[in-house]
Amino acid sequence: KERTLGIIKPDSTAKMGQILDVIYQKGFMITQLKMCQLNRNEAFQLYQEHQGKPFLDNLLNFITRGPVIAFEMMGPGVISAWRELLGPTDSAEARKVAPQSIRARFGKDNTENACHGSDSTTSAAREVEFFFPSTGPG
Ligand code: ATP
Repeated sequence: KERTLGIIKPDSTAKMGQILDVIYQKGFMITQLKMCQLNRNEAFQLYQEHQGKPFLDNLLNFITRGPVIAFEMMGPGVISAWRELLGPTDSAEARKVAPQSIRARFGKDNTENACHGSDSTTSAAREVEFFFPSTGPG
């Protein structure tokens, strides 16, 4: 079954209730969830595909500044369905083209954009394993 990894980022953990409400109303099924605080090494590991990007340092500062909520979701087509619900990376752009999306409603800008979603089956597998190691409980 297809799965994906979602993250409520530090700008939006205080709105986790509202965001989880939207997720459930849309019919997504959350199969694992936890709150944790990433250190710099962990954040770098999570965002390894962004090595060399000009915004990486900003992104690492942001994602480590407070707790995140990581969750696994399962279901047919869940990777693209979740990214569709997120809307465009830039929250301002999201407000223009997808006003009902999560980033339009809860995000601030291009960096503080409320939530993350895996972009492929490969990154989903890696990111789920990162937060929920298969050797761990559950
Ligand atoms: P995510 O991977 O978090 O779901 P995404 O796939 O929409 O987001 P990416 O291009 O993978 O966007 O960038 C990852 C994250 O890095 C973005 O969600 C955002 O927080 C930050 N980011 C992306 N582009 C920029 C930018 N130009 N300036 C600042 N921050 C950025």
